[in-house]
Amino acid sequence: MPVRVRCAPSPTGYLHIGVTRTALFNFLYARHNQGRFLLRIEDTDKERSREEYTRSIQEGFAWVGIHSDEPPIFQSQRQEYYQSLFNQLLSEGKAYRCDCSKERLEELRASQSARGLTPQYDGHCRERTDVSPAGSVIRLKTPHEGTVALQDSIYGEFTFNNADCDDYVIAKSDGTPTYQFAVVADDHAQGVTLVIRGNDLFPSTHRQILLYQAFAWDVPGFAHLPMILGADKQKLSKRHGATSLLAYRAMGYLPQAMCNYLVRLGWAYGDQEVFQMDEMIEKFTIDSIGKSPAVFNPDKLLWLNGEHIRLLGISELTEAWLDHLDHLDEDQVYLEAAPGTSQPIRVPDLAALRNPSHRDWVELLVGACQGRSSTLVQLTDHALPFLIRDIQYDAKAVAKVLNAEARIPLTEVLGWVQKHNPLPDENRIHEFLDNLAKSLDIGLGKVAQPVRVAVTGRTVSPPINTTLLILEKSQGHGILAERLQKALLLIPKAE
Ligand code: GLU
Repeated sequence: MPVRVRCAPSPTGYLHIGVTRTALFNFLYARHNQGRFLLRIEDTDKERSREEYTRSIQEGFAWVGIHSDEPPIFQSQRQEYYQSLFNQLLSEGKAYRCDCSKERLEELRASQSARGLTPQYDGHCRERTDVSPAGSVIRLKTPHEGTVALQDSIYGEFTFNNADCDDYVIAKSDGTPTYQFAVVADDHAQGVTLVIRGNDLFPSTHRQILLYQAFAWDVPGFAHLPMILGADKQKLSKRHGATSLLAYRAMGYLPQAMCNYLVRLGWAYGDQEVFQMDEMIEKFTIDSIGKSPAVFNPDKLLWLNGEHIRLLGISELTEAWLDHLDHLDEDQVYLEAAPGTSQPIRVPDLAALRNPSHRDWVELLVGACQGRSSTLVQLTDHALPFLIRDIQYDAKAVAKVLNAEARIPLTEVLGWVQKHNPLPDENRIHEFLDNLAKSLDIGLGKVAQPVRVAVTGRTVSPPINTTLLILEKSQGHGILAERLQKALLLIPKAE
């Protein structure tokens, strides 16, 4: 039977990383088995479902490359289908209408709890034929004896006692289906062969199998995934860090690193940590999913992101960086007042970075920052001195490096750049700096460090010859002398 799996999020919040992991496992399982992966939006809860959440689900999955093989279906558009199924169950005597009041149900629950019993509907309306459709709910007539056996692909055999399942509600009083009903109706309609989902839904599986049985439909397989916990072993929540997938795009994570990190939450392949999507597809099997909860570790995610940043080709990394910058909110972009005005400008200037005639220095810059960046936000930070017109000096760097000793090397370098427009290649720049150090009888660092602080404002930057070249290409040759002169003015006058 061809494999068909699905991810069925409810759009009641931004796409959660836990839901993304469930989607990824389904997606990998489908691809590994040449099957199909389907997306279904479970938006039956009108109060809590919102379009912006649906958009975040679709955008998030698109960002990490989890694509549905068929157009997504929306449960809010399938009322007619559900209605026909309700009619079928009612006419076959497998479901019944119930108009028990909220007060009655509350009393029932309270008295059962007081007697130490698990609250259950008592079947009050089960044999009634006089309940009016208006304002009533529909309940499934569940068997109260016997058992249901489940062969979970991850947890193994499990037996549910039917006595534990009451006649639960399948249609709300407004006629729309409950989650338990719609999920079964659609998994059947979509021909789902294996339901891979979080094990928080394990208790629902009993109810759902009883519904398949009521319709005499084939029951799909089930694979319940271990939960994702925070370091304190509590359910993953905002306390442990961002839980919305797209927040990680804004924080400078690569989609491939997210997938790589998420796949390892519950799944393993020997000791291997770094996977590309193709490799995950090739190696993914349900058998290698563990039973114990996975612990979310932001440090490991950061490390993996750095690994993936370094694995990317410069052109791909440049695209990923520009995509990240493109999606930052206004309050996340770097703003700098344009010289002579109080008008803030957007830095980095995306239009300039995307300009094809700037591509060579942009790639040079990205390549120079790649090794030291674990996130794209760090990459932006390393790149910033090359992207802003007005240099910002780090006061500590100035105090430490721009001292009396720096005056001669800086003056020499200033004279040299004024004579070399444009700069020669990297080797020649290095040669010049090296010779200068020798002629002044000082170490190369005593030349390179003042120049670095002078032109970037910081003590850390790409190799000094590369730094000078990129700066010349990004801001024009004149910026070099401009910044060196500015730095010379910062050197305290000798007493
Ligand atoms: N819509 C359900 C949820 O978001 C998941 C349904 C399922 O996977 O069975 O929790």
